[in-house]
Amino acid sequence: MHVQHVDADDEYRRQVADWLAANVPPELRGAGGPGREHEAFAERLDWNRRLAAAGWTCLGWPAAYGGHDAPLRQQMIFYEEYARSRAPARVAVVGEELLGPTLIAFGTPEQRRRFLPPIAAVEELWCQGYSEPNAGSDLASVSTTATRSGDEWVITGQKVWTSLAHVADWCFVLARTEPGSRRSAGLSYLLVPMRQEQITIRPIRQLTGTSEFNEVFFDGARTPLENVVGAPGDGWRIAKATLEFERGAGMLGQQVGFRRELDDLISLARRTEAGADPRLRDRLARAWIGLEVIRAYALDTLGQPPGTGAEASVLKVLWSRWHQALGELAMDVRGAGSMIAEAGHNNSDDGDYAADLDEWQRLYLFSRADTIYGGSDEIQRNVIATRALGLPRQGRG
Ligand SMILES: Cc1cc2nc3c(=O)[nH]c(=O)nc-3n(C[C@H](O)[C@H](O)[C@H](O)COP(=O)(O)OP(=O)(O)OC[C@H]3O[C@@H](n4cnc5c(N)ncnc54)[C@H](O)[C@@H]3O)c2cc1C
Repeated sequence: MHVQHVDADDEYRRQVADWLAANVPPELRGAGGPGREHEAFAERLDWNRRLAAAGWTCLGWPAAYGGHDAPLRQQMIFYEEYARSRAPARVAVVGEELLGPTLIAFGTPEQRRRFLPPIAAVEELWCQGYSEPNAGSDLASVSTTATRSGDEWVITGQKVWTSLAHVADWCFVLARTEPGSRRSAGLSYLLVPMRQEQITIRPIRQLTGTSEFNEVFFDGARTPLENVVGAPGDGWRIAKATLEFERGAGMLGQQVGFRRELDDLISLARRTEAGADPRLRDRLARAWIGLEVIRAYALDTLGQPPGTGAEASVLKVLWSRWHQALGELAMDVRGAGSMIAEAGHNNSDDGDYAADLDEWQRLYLFSRADTIYGGSDEIQRNVIATRALGLPRQGRG
């Protein structure tokens, strides 16, 4: 049985690798990704649609909704080969990895039929409207409101740090639908079309000089009443489930991209004197071990019924810490030169001057965000403390 399993995996791996070798456009190799989402966006959108047409999106989803029922091992193999081929970063990740699994679990049959196929085909892009100026870690403080008017919800408020809102067609918005409700009660999970006059999107400049996330202002924006996932007022439960997908299986693709970064850093160390430095060799070996641990933990826990219920949080802390340490290690492997960046302009229209970062500088700077987005490390450790260790909830005796 074991041999058959390995043979089938090998065959699948060959299939993926052959297709990618024949299809990845050479000029797009390595384009896009964190800190570089502006790069060749239209071309990457087109590429992502070609991936979809060839059946390489939404691998784990049920076939009935445009997926391929692929087991976790095959999904992992796909992402590994994808990273190895240096195919460009995909653009439809939020829909595919966050909203899609949420609708599969909680959506009505009509919602699944309406929203899932365009995600699988990369015809509609999504963004996540959770965080607000006064509701980040404390997400239950959301104050954006949605009120019923005829057969529509009318949404008013502000979201912030909304990744890729400027290219999204739709946003899943956590909004307060029961006036006077407090904390996690009275929230609803709404699906809102982004292209309407009552929505204003303002880019936010990041440490990398690029702008991938935004402030989003809802000024009486509208969506049909039926675009609520779960019952009105039950949005907290749905929103938490999306976060589990985001911290767990959703990170699979990103994590295997880390392998390529590590491999590149190791080959840089081999070519330079860094490879002979005992402290750097030690850190490189530890980084290699760390990634093996993350891969093993992900394979062991994702796709399984929850054990302690804290698995996604454990994974998030493991990979975010690992990736930040890799950014620091990359700076040290490059040595003093890593502190100098070429002068240049970034891609924004505001004329601001920004440095042209190389891939290691960008990794170092962007990875500072790893322990923040998807829920900060401190919050993950609180989840682990209560769910896995059975400690009392924070603030209670
Ligand atoms: C690159 C990036 C992309 C993002 N994309 C999106 C997106 O697409 N959609 C979206 O909705 N949001 C997005 N976010 C927002 C992200 O989810 C929040 O930044 C995050 O949840 C933290 O919230 P905050 O920034 O308000 O910080 P705060 O909640 O104010 O936290 C500040 C600090 O206090 C700590 N802290 C807070 N509460 C506790 C506690 N109870 N115990 C211990 N420590 C605590 C935190 O860990 C943190 O270090 C993104 C963020 C980043 C950096």
